[in-house]
Amino acid sequence: MKEPDRTKCSSCGAPIYWARWRGPKGQGGFVPVDTEPDMRPLGGNLVLSINPDGKLFAENAGIQHRGTRKRYNHHGDTCAAKTGRAR
Ligand SMILES: [Zn+2]
Repeated sequence: MKEPDRTKCSSCGAPIYWARWRGPKGQGGFVPVDTEPDMRPLGGNLVLSINPDGKLFAENAGIQHRGTRKRYNHHGDTCAAKTGRAR
C-alpha cells in the first residue's frame, strides 16, 4: 500500500491522515485518522484503504474486518487537545 499523505492535527500536533469517509450510504466528508493502528480488542473502529490514484478512504471496521485488517482510531476520539491525555 502506498503511504498516504500525513498532516498534523491543528489542535495537538499529532500526525494524522485525512481520509474520505466511505459509509453504507456512500462517500462523505473527510475524517481525521490516527496514523498508528490500534489493534486492541476494542480499539480502532476504522479501516483504511487507498485507491490507485492515492485517495485514502476510511470505513467502519465492523465485524467483517476485525482480526484481518489494521484498525485505526478516529483522531477526534484520541486528540490530546480534547482528552487531555499526553501522547
Ligand atoms: Zn489532535
